[in-house]
Amino acid sequence: MSEVVRATVPAQTLAEAVHAAMPMAQELLDALESHTGATKGITRTPYGDGEQYAHDLMADCADRLGLRHAVDPAGNLYLTLPGQDSHTPCWMVGSHLDSVPNGGNFDGAAGVIAGLAAIAALKSVGVVPRRDVTVMGIRAEEAGSWFSGVHGGHLGSRMALGLLEASELDTAIRTDTGQSLRRHLQACGCDPARIGEGQRHLDPARIHGYLELHIEQGPVLEQRAIPVGVVTGIRGNSRLRDPKCIGEYNHGGATPQAQRRDSVIATSELILAIDGKWHELETAGEDLIFTVGKLYTDPKLHSLSKVPGEVGFTLDIRSASPEVLATMRAFVIESASAIGARRGVKFDLGAFSLSEPTVLDASMRQTLCAGAAALSIPIAEIASGGGHDAQEFVRAGIPAAMIFVRNANGSHVAEEGMELDDFELGTRLLSWMVTG
Ligand SMILES: [Zn+2]
Repeated sequence: MSEVVRATVPAQTLAEAVHAAMPMAQELLDALESHTGATKGITRTPYGDGEQYAHDLMADCADRLGLRHAVDPAGNLYLTLPGQDSHTPCWMVGSHLDSVPNGGNFDGAAGVIAGLAAIAALKSVGVVPRRDVTVMGIRAEEAGSWFSGVHGGHLGSRMALGLLEASELDTAIRTDTGQSLRRHLQACGCDPARIGEGQRHLDPARIHGYLELHIEQGPVLEQRAIPVGVVTGIRGNSRLRDPKCIGEYNHGGATPQAQRRDSVIATSELILAIDGKWHELETAGEDLIFTVGKLYTDPKLHSLSKVPGEVGFTLDIRSASPEVLATMRAFVIESASAIGARRGVKFDLGAFSLSEPTVLDASMRQTLCAGAAALSIPIAEIASGGGHDAQEFVRAGIPAAMIFVRNANGSHVAEEGMELDDFELGTRLLSWMVTG
């Protein structure tokens, strides 16, 4: 993809055009904030008033820009700038317009607004991209915060891509209303009969690539003082939910140190060994984080003066790389065995769960990095810790990439702190990308 020639817009012209589109972006952000504000932060409930307001607002803006406007059976919104050749697979630029309860104004909406601002900029300088550019306003990405029952999350994109099981229409229940996804779709004028059983609105063969701009949800860009990130992948995880280290309870005064089978010391050694492995892989440039979120002795049996005979803990290992997850699983198993043999304890780890990482398209990432260099935009390549609709596009076989924008104070909180100057740089990169 990197060899594709992009429309010849001088970098300075593109920068000025995107800059000129920022008041429109700010107006949209302000309107969202004032109309979807909650007691704290903003609330745009999926298939509720706040999300619908956002969809209507984006559609109005697209009308003013003269874009084609469509809605699919799940209520996802499609706003299209026709390219030179509409038979060529299109660019899909998307993000979600719902939010978590009492969330921030930028998570999700920034990506849709960036798409509209990029199109406004291209139109203002008379650039007609070689392929259609469709901005997608996605429904119910934050389903994990709103719907209980059995469902696979990311409901809007999965419905569009034919990835939703038909049964999820009835088993996904919005917790604030007690109503099923099907009922909410019907109430919004959507068409659940055309959803599920592999029915899809989007044909992967008709999509050249999916691009999502999103605020970074962690502090990495902020700490490194870099405005824009090119996302390498979306982290998966491998977890041990209930591992145990079994040693032997004994007298804490009388048992010689060398003869103890001390589960606390053995578990501590294992955790520090994992920390050492993290350091080694981090130094080698690999993506890895891990958490021992629970670590406990048994309050019924432990005592200040007793050698601890059993420790329970949890282990959550996350990486954007499937290989790193596999390496860590093997490392933990081998280390537990070696430490157990040396210290006379037994680690009963149980089986690792596995949620595979999503590797974003290497060619698109490379093109984004080249574009950032050409446009003099400082970037860092970073992994995404949170899940995004982009992973569903990858699952459907569509090349996908993500642009992160620096954001202070975390996400899913009222205090999200994206600066418009940083958003402008991310939007400039996005607008350059869709001309190819
Ligand atoms: Zn989001």
